[in-house]
Amino acid sequence: MQSPLSPTRPKSPWGRFDPYDFPEDQDKEYVGFATLPNQVHRKSVKKGFDFTLMVAGESGLGKSTLVNSLFLTDLYKDRKLLNAEERITQTVEITKHTVDIEEKGVKLKLTIVDTPGFGDAVNNTECWKSVADYIDQQFEQYFRDESGLNRKNIQDNRVHCCLYFISPFGHGLRPLDVEFMKALHEKVNIVPILAKADTLTPTEVKKKKFKIREEIQQYGIKIYQFPDCDSDEDEDFKQQDQELKDSIPFAVIGSNTVVEAKGKRVRGRLYPWGIVEVENSAHCDFVKLRNMLVRTHMQDLKDVTRETHYENYRAHCIQSMTRMVVKERNRNKLTRESGTDFPIPVIPSTTDTETEKLIREKDEEALHVVFKEMNVCT
Ligand code: GDP
Repeated sequence: MQSPLSPTRPKSPWGRFDPYDFPEDQDKEYVGFATLPNQVHRKSVKKGFDFTLMVAGESGLGKSTLVNSLFLTDLYKDRKLLNAEERITQTVEITKHTVDIEEKGVKLKLTIVDTPGFGDAVNNTECWKSVADYIDQQFEQYFRDESGLNRKNIQDNRVHCCLYFISPFGHGLRPLDVEFMKALHEKVNIVPILAKADTLTPTEVKKKKFKIREEIQQYGIKIYQFPDCDSDEDEDFKQQDQELKDSIPFAVIGSNTVVEAKGKRVRGRLYPWGIVEVENSAHCDFVKLRNMLVRTHMQDLKDVTRETHYENYRAHCIQSMTRMVVKERNRNKLTRESGTDFPIPVIPSTTDTETEKLIREKDEEALHVVFKEMNVCT
């Protein structure tokens, strides 16, 4: 049995929460693996985190204002606003803004993917296509990198979440909203947002939310599903979780200005009849949305992206590859059976590195063909 002062007694060496630092544990014998979470924590903090958030929906619904309010940073300082004529002729152009933010020693590389102009053009047919293509291209790049030789420093640009903004002025979802969300729901975690909630009364917000939830179900749109609570969680947590689920679509208000309300400086919008406060949960769901995105579900959004959306893409890709190989084999078999000379591949007498290079080139060529084929069939 080890004494509390034993030098071999396992301790967490990083000064953080030490799982062995309890009086009741002092006389017990341990191996020390309860420090594993600390080891994981240390490694991930050292590496830093990344998160890619896409915002979509008609322009002018407050997407950029909300993103700035969410991350307390001006991500759009270089944005050029287009005039009406430019917006009519514009096809959906996708832009990316990246910022490195740090809080309490934890670094987050945040990427915002913006889809401006969506819904502005006269002809909006298939305006979701370039957004869907963008998401696929990120999967494709990741798949290529993952299948390559150097898998150590892969840059992961996969989109982890798409905030889809719904206009507060319509009666529920518009056909374009349905089309857009259905085109993307198998590729990305969609979180619906009821924009500019300050333009609606509380009763209207309630009614709109209900209608939108109903329509989401009616049209078979698969939005991001919050994971179920474990049955042994405490009641408070369960209630918060249920409230979160009932808040969909999150009714939000964005503002880039700080105003004075009841002697306090707050982010809000000043009207002749009063102030709406962005971070006041009696006014809107902004705090709920931010907590969900950052504090409670960021990792789950990443997990679902990796385990579900990317896996779907990958499985589809591998299926196409297999089909191609089978087709190629059958063709070769036919050629042989018809008596035509089939060139037997000659293994080149090269050194190991040259062979490796050749294999890599062949692999890349094969992948390239498959990706090309996939772009046609997806
Ligand atoms: P985006 O084109 O979707 O990025 O929209 P912007 O963020 O540029 O906002 C367009 C306009 O809506 C600006 O004048 C904003 O000040 C205003 N706006 C943004 N958020 C809100 C909101 O929550 N409520 C109201 N009433 N106006 C907002």
